[in-house]
Amino acid sequence: MAELEIARSTDMPILKYGLQPAILVAVLAVWYFNADFPAIYVVILVGVQLLLGILEHWLPARQTWMQPAREKLIILAIVVVGVVVSVMVVALYADIVAGPLAEFRQAVHLDIWPSGLPLLVQVFMVFFLGEFIWYWIHRAEHRWQFVWRMSGHGAHHSFKHLGAINFGANHPMESFVLVLPAAIVELIFGVGIAAAGAAVFSATQASIAHTNLNLNSKWIGWLFTTNHYHIRHHSVVLEESNTNYGCSAILWDRVFGTFVDSPIVEAGIGPTEPNLWEKFLMPLREPVDSEIAPS
Ligand SMILES: [Zn+2]
Repeated sequence: MAELEIARSTDMPILKYGLQPAILVAVLAVWYFNADFPAIYVVILVGVQLLLGILEHWLPARQTWMQPAREKLIILAIVVVGVVVSVMVVALYADIVAGPLAEFRQAVHLDIWPSGLPLLVQVFMVFFLGEFIWYWIHRAEHRWQFVWRMSGHGAHHSFKHLGAINFGANHPMESFVLVLPAAIVELIFGVGIAAAGAAVFSATQASIAHTNLNLNSKWIGWLFTTNHYHIRHHSVVLEESNTNYGCSAILWDRVFGTFVDSPIVEAGIGPTEPNLWEKFLMPLREPVDSEIAPS
């Protein structure tokens, strides 16, 4: 089978080489100068999605992956549910463990976070720490059937057509693990506002990682995931899917030997895409033609 073909007409150098760095710099700048304004998080995420969504419609790297309006609306509904559940989970974690752990940190004088460093340096420290934790959680999801099922991670892999919006197309159950890295870093180190900057940066990177655009992977792909690398993780072939676990950073895949750079033929969990109900039931029942679930 031929690899997933990227349309030649989308080979525009300014977008190919400039879009990802430009979005990342812009997002960090907008956040940095408006970090105290709560709505800025929604503004940034919606802005990134709109920009990538419009470009995907105008210059889709793979014509066959263009998501019709109905498909996009269903994914949007899944994303909204996921975001609402994630916000509730964050509040739950904060309620249950934030207080006792803050007291514990104070009791043992665990005050090692370098809060005197420039804020953007702290943001990148939190980002790579969180991505380190996520790398191992994500790898565990693909290694053990129990973790795969309980997190509903298969639902995220079940889509045959990827676009930027798929960054949030997760089973509601997955919210419990998706917020874990940021929660663990915050609870151990008490990093404060830098955690919010890292979360925005991470969500932006994850959006770019799923986008159906013709983007470059050189240079930027040493540290950060690109869509070329992450789409390989969405391959329907088990050995290809079990690589490139980083959804925002690729650094840890390079360090721990799971980084692979090669194109794929098809995305999804098997020959067919499960319907919405089957996706929802994935923690209980794997679709019959699923090929990438751990056994
Ligand atoms: Zn995965």
